Amino acid sequence: MNRPFIIPVFLPHHGCPHRCIFCNQTAITSIKKNLLDTEQLHLWIKEFLKYKRKQRYPVQIAFYGGNFLGLKTDDVKRLLHEAAKLVKDGQVDSIRFSTRPDTINNQRLDVIKQYPVATIELGVQSMDDQVLATANRGHTSLDTEKAVELLKARKYTIGLQMMVGLPGDDEAKALATGHRIAGLDPDFVRIYPTAVLANSPLAAWYQQGEYAPWPLKQSVTVVKKLYLMFINNKIPVIRMGLQSSEDLEEESTILAGPYHPAFGHLVHSEIFLDRAVAAIKPAKSSHDTITLKVHPHNISKMRGLNNQNVEILKKRFRIKDLQIIPDYALSKDRLVVLQQRSRLH
Ligand code: SF4
Repeated sequence: MNRPFIIPVFLPHHGCPHRCIFCNQTAITSIKKNLLDTEQLHLWIKEFLKYKRKQRYPVQIAFYGGNFLGLKTDDVKRLLHEAAKLVKDGQVDSIRFSTRPDTINNQRLDVIKQYPVATIELGVQSMDDQVLATANRGHTSLDTEKAVELLKARKYTIGLQMMVGLPGDDEAKALATGHRIAGLDPDFVRIYPTAVLANSPLAAWYQQGEYAPWPLKQSVTVVKKLYLMFINNKIPVIRMGLQSSEDLEEESTILAGPYHPAFGHLVHSEIFLDRAVAAIKPAKSSHDTITLKVHPHNISKMRGLNNQNVEILKKRFRIKDLQIIPDYALSKDRLVVLQQRSRLH
């Protein structure tokens, strides 16, 4: 899958029928503005295009942070019309947006069919109807299934976003959601652990003791299981965890929950730790030296954050010297263990 160059145009909460309990787009996107007017939109896009890199393809204008097809039809048409001008003059390849599953119907899709929209992302969040109801989503899993069917019929590239750790969610429900999403065969997915954002309805639940977010470790492990399941189904996972920003780093923005600026890295590190644990043969006593060879791209994933994996492995297998070395000959998902001299007592 190519890595697109995305020009994000944030429309915080525009088009939302109500506020979902976990959401505060102003905090996530750092954008506090009203819907951009035409001039602002062009200036914003022009500024972003300065950072375009050749190897990133396609170039897409992305309307994020709200419920795009929930906007008034005139606004939908205005934004798409302006974006389409840049596609026509060759600066941009196509358009993408995120929207709610219950905004997808033939009538709305007819409104956008004349514009060069290539990718549509749906905020699925969960396929458990009870979890959806508690999160005040206002749609069901059936809405998601119908929406995907309609988008497939019109040949859009489909991205599905899911959350883990919403009120009432548990590991079994999160994995069941993952399986149902995989069954819909989207082109890619994003997985977000639920964090308590300031000024979201969930913040009040948290402060009143009615909601406890999942711990970071649990979230990493569940997202890891989902990631591996999607990858085994050949479905790319393009994001795990909220994108870090200066605003999110502020303590006043995230009140609690499994937010980590390198959440995806934590997931990949746990995958490499599991692989190493499965591959190292325990010695009767201690190991003198163990060498782990991975693709150079994966050195830091194998080490883990702050060398955490190294410490865990050394302790678990009583290894005196653990080396992690790069090997270009290995594919990115491989790990080779060289065990030298185990000391037997
Ligand atoms: S999750 Fe989506 S629909 Fe719900 S309030 Fe946030 S932006 Fe709006």
